[in-house]
Amino acid sequence: MSIINHYSGYGAQSKEDTDALTQRSKRCICKKCGGKLTTSLIIYDIYGGAGMELYCPHCQQTEFGVEPEIYEIAQYYVENFQFNYFLDMEENDLNEQLNIAKVADMLSWLFKNLGLLDHNGLKNTLPDYQFYKRLHR
Ligand SMILES: [Zn+2]
Repeated sequence: MSIINHYSGYGAQSKEDTDALTQRSKRCICKKCGGKLTTSLIIYDIYGGAGMELYCPHCQQTEFGVEPEIYEIAQYYVENFQFNYFLDMEENDLNEQLNIAKVADMLSWLFKNLGLLDHNGLKNTLPDYQFYKRLHR
C-alpha cells in the first residue's frame, strides 16, 4: 500500500465524494490522537486499486476522523471516569488513545442515531424526539 499525502484530485471517486472528504478533513480530527487529518490517495495494489481517504500523518494510518467536539467529550470521559475497554492491554498512551477512539465511536453512533449529527457535522437544532418515539412503538 502506498500513500500520496495532500492529494486533491478526483481519482476513481465522484466529485461529490471527494468534496465531502475534503470538507471532512477540514472539520474532523483523528479519533486516536486528536490531530489534523489530510486527504490522501491510497494505492491499495499494483492492479490499480486506489482511492482517496482521510489520513492521520501522526498515527500514519487512514482515519475517517471524528467531530472535534465529540473527541473532547470522549477524552474527558476516558480521563475522568477511568474508562478502559482494553483490559488486556498495558495502560499507556496507546491504550488511552484507543479508549478515546472507542468512546468517540460510541458517542458518534449515539449522536447520529439521535439525529444530532450528520455528514455536515453536529447540528445546531434539536431533532423532533417525537419522531423517535413513533419509531419504537
Ligand atoms: Zn492520529
